[in-house]
Amino acid sequence: MKVTFLGTGTSQGIPIIGSKHPVCLSSNSKDKRLRVSVLVTWEHYKYVIDCGPDFRYQMLRAGCDRIDGVIFTHEHSDHVSGLDDIRPFYFRQGDIPIYAHKRVLKSLRKRFDYIFATKNKYPGAPTVITNRIKNKPFKLQNLEVVPVNGLHDKLQVFGFRFSDFAYLTDMKTVSDEEIKKIKNVKVLVVNALRIDSHRSHFNLEEALQFIDKVNPETAYLTHISHLLGFHEEVEKTLPENVFLAYDGLEITI
Ligand SMILES: [Zn+2]
Repeated sequence: MKVTFLGTGTSQGIPIIGSKHPVCLSSNSKDKRLRVSVLVTWEHYKYVIDCGPDFRYQMLRAGCDRIDGVIFTHEHSDHVSGLDDIRPFYFRQGDIPIYAHKRVLKSLRKRFDYIFATKNKYPGAPTVITNRIKNKPFKLQNLEVVPVNGLHDKLQVFGFRFSDFAYLTDMKTVSDEEIKKIKNVKVLVVNALRIDSHRSHFNLEEALQFIDKVNPETAYLTHISHLLGFHEEVEKTLPENVFLAYDGLEITI
């Protein structure tokens, strides 16, 4: 299985438009972060987790010419607002499967009403096949995916375990019961927004405590704000098996 980090930034991305913060002005490419998303590939299958405002450019940058589906963690704009840009895949492949919690599907229907239209649908609009995710394992092709339930402030969010890889973003609270599902996983990706605490995201300290509980072989941090600091400097402070993810990073599991 191969995982490509398409984006590793928080909701505004890095740099933030107009910001004079030193991290936003950094010339290191690892300090430039599009909105958070990963491409998960195994055999000839390709799935994207989340589809934010940078989706089009992320697909071009990764050279991705087909996808088997889009899986959503939750309905916030930085995770869903690029859905219209599945159009090239739809034109070439036909209806595109999407996977999400019932509440997220409802939100997508409202936000992208023309995609879900059943009458007088504009022919240029893409069509999706909706698949509802509950908090129980589901199949993607020949693989079982295990949802991991968490809270983003008060909003329910799904993380996902794909065999030895677990991806959790926008988490602030995860119960011990849910942690059991990913205990000792080989590779864990988890959000770490910044140094100071935040009401809906792990800060760095909380992310490291979470990693300790899960006990993965290797962990990568994502959904990063400029307030976490420079990539090179933050990475020096991390435990041996923990890394900052960066856009374009590919890992094989
Ligand atoms: Zn987010």
